Amino acid sequence: MSFAELGLAPNLLSVLDALGYQQPTAIQQGAIPAVLAGRDVLAGAQTGTGKTAAFLLPLIQRLADGSGSANAPRLLVLTPTRELAQQVADSALRYGAGSGLSVGVAYGGVSLRPQIEALNDGVDILIATPGRLLDLRNQGALTFASVQTLVLDEADRMLDLGFSDEILGILKQLPKTRQTLFFSATFPQSVKDMAFGMLNDPAQIEV
Ligand code: AMP
Repeated sequence: MSFAELGLAPNLLSVLDALGYQQPTAIQQGAIPAVLAGRDVLAGAQTGTGKTAAFLLPLIQRLADGSGSANAPRLLVLTPTRELAQQVADSALRYGAGSGLSVGVAYGGVSLRPQIEALNDGVDILIATPGRLLDLRNQGALTFASVQTLVLDEADRMLDLGFSDEILGILKQLPKTRQTLFFSATFPQSVKDMAFGMLNDPAQIEV
């Protein structure tokens, strides 16, 4: 199975070619067609499986048909840590090169001001840790009204770090009609409960 057969557009195929990605990984084979079709996804995948590209590539393709405005991201990715947020943002810039999409990253422990300014400049894709995202929302630095897709990356680690209230607080404010992708390495009952509470008939992918 090639990236082209999974439904990715020529501009992304060129990016992947330049990066030297020859074959989609198992998680990419499962997730890319489902995400392109607009479905919710529940995926079990460890780091190193290619999970980041599994959600970013098809979502970048879907976002390319439209354009964002200031303070209104269309894709929201939640991560447990600032390191992962930065890595996902770096990947989004790499895969989205030439797409014209702007990428923002927001995490705690650093000043709010530059993050607020970046949101004011317009961000299509926002990658954030849950606490900082809520802080920014509470300051009026962004609206969730344009969010089309929510991704939870490493959901089990977010729950381990005590972010479940923040995640529920964010979910309550998101548009009801949206796509949700849920990635976790492990599925204890607490993670399953959260997943099934927020997903609608998800494609289930286990690698
Ligand atoms: P991740 O599991 O998302 O952290 O990705 C692990 C690493 O694999 C990253 O360095 C990616 O750049 C790389 N990668 C992801 N997908 C592919 C692929 N299909 N072919 C080669 N490398 C890949």
